Amino acid sequence: MAGIIVYVLGKDGEFNKNSLGAISKAAQLAGEIGGEASAVVVGESFDDAKLAELGKYGAAKVYKVTGPEGVAQPVVDAIEKIATENDIKYALFGGGLLGFEIGAGLTARLNWGVTAEATGIRAEGGKLIVERPVLQDSAIVDVAYKGDGGVIVSRLNAFEPNDSIGAAGEVVDTPVEFKEHSLRAKLVARGVQEGADVNIEDADVIIAGGRGLGEAANFSLADDLAASLGGTVAATRAVVDAGWFPYAGQIGQTGKTVAPKLYLALGISGAIQHKVGMQASENIVAINKDPNAPIFEFSDLGVVGDLHSIAPKLTEAIKAKKGA
Ligand SMILES: Cc1cc2nc3c(=O)[nH]c(=O)nc-3n(C[C@H](O)[C@H](O)[C@H](O)COP(=O)(O)OP(=O)(O)OC[C@H]3O[C@@H](n4cnc5c(N)ncnc54)[C@H](O)[C@@H]3O)c2cc1C
Repeated sequence: MAGIIVYVLGKDGEFNKNSLGAISKAAQLAGEIGGEASAVVVGESFDDAKLAELGKYGAAKVYKVTGPEGVAQPVVDAIEKIATENDIKYALFGGGLLGFEIGAGLTARLNWGVTAEATGIRAEGGKLIVERPVLQDSAIVDVAYKGDGGVIVSRLNAFEPNDSIGAAGEVVDTPVEFKEHSLRAKLVARGVQEGADVNIEDADVIIAGGRGLGEAANFSLADDLAASLGGTVAATRAVVDAGWFPYAGQIGQTGKTVAPKLYLALGISGAIQHKVGMQASENIVAINKDPNAPIFEFSDLGVVGDLHSIAPKLTEAIKAKKGA
């Protein structure tokens, strides 16, 4: 019986979607390795009735820990105690920086293995095998754990929540004695991510920027083009991961699905994970300096050339045509 525990975080009375997806995945896997999935929530934001709702997503037990919210070390203390006392062998995090931080601490504390950026997990012979992309996402490798415990930090929203897995979870009050160093940091404020209100799903015209833009500042080329056409700017995951553009504007498998009248790509290779989010666009135009870029295989119009010279000229031409 090897259990899987998931750290659950939430805000404004609701649990994060990535935490719920991780519980549902853990429930499926726990069934396959003969254990049960549980959740741990640290803090006082949720009452017992709300915590029990995690059972619907697959958490048989919900460990309720009173302690500082939103910081890593207290969660490391909590999961160490719960895992040790309940034969839990895996801890799964639904992504995000806090998951990375807790996962790293837990790995050191329990001497478990750790895999970050997981995009898939499967059970084999009573153990978990984690699938994760490598080499700039050009290949996926399988990671197995040598010992009998493992930390898995997934990519954000890698797993879909399923709220019809179980009934109410059993809420277990769990007192934890925090280490002195675990209480030195505290959450002072939570902010709203810049750009969280970017709305690309409803746009008729999308100018999407990719790594070919070269740097964040060059998104001004996309902004200018979008302004000339009355469109909205979006991005690939590569540039979102690089911090050039907010996640809310990411198109693709782990971002949003769009179907504008015009989708114009600036410096985007056309990876399958991007394509699945925009292939329903009515007209696809791509500017790319590589004539062999995959995006040309599904573009209605492909322009081979340097976007840095083409985009400004295109903006000027559109403005001139519109008499602006
Ligand atoms: C599980 C998983 C989920 C993923 N989810 C997503 C997702 O939701 N969305 C997504 O977008 N990706 C996703 N990815 C990543 C995806 O595989 C690609 O890595 C990503 O889409 C590449 O982004 P890009 O096209 O901006 O960068 P690159 O692949 O680096 O392409 C840059 C392109 O710019 C061109 N270029 C360079 N300079 C210029 C120039 N001066 N002028 C013109 N062209 C130029 C290059 O020829 C190249 O084709 C996912 C990957 C995995 C494994």
